[in-house]
Amino acid sequence: MTTRRAARITPPTPLRRTISQARPAPLPATRDEVAAAAGDWTPEVIRCRVSRHWWDAHTAYRDAATGTLEIVEQCARCNKVLRRHVISIRTQERLTDYSYTYEDGFLSKDLGRIDSNGRAQLELLTYADLLAEDVPTPATRKRRPASKAG
Ligand SMILES: [Zn+2]
Repeated sequence: MTTRRAARITPPTPLRRTISQARPAPLPATRDEVAAAAGDWTPEVIRCRVSRHWWDAHTAYRDAATGTLEIVEQCARCNKVLRRHVISIRTQERLTDYSYTYEDGFLSKDLGRIDSNGRAQLELLTYADLLAEDVPTPATRKRRPASKAG
């Protein structure tokens, strides 16, 4: 178990927030915006955009004065995102929402929210080799003729 102190980059977000504090959802990104952003992303970033991050332990810091444990995890796939939250050791409750820190190469400036169609567009990039014309896809594979049961 790693116990070195994690770098504090942003203050944690309080777990409980009222509806009036909730931010409105950003507009979905257009196909052109998704295609342009994807050109700057690694295959791992695209994979994380499609199927979310793959969190692994990074650092943990026990604060004896407050009786809390701050946990920092890093995405083991893209290695570009850290998430952190704080847990009360005494009550065993989570005290903060997850807060995220992104390295360069994950976020795209002014890119809207990637909705399910945007994720489908990115998934097609992930499987681009299967979509090459010389490789049969399930839709183009020759079907075996139905056997005649006798
Ligand atoms: Zn990731």
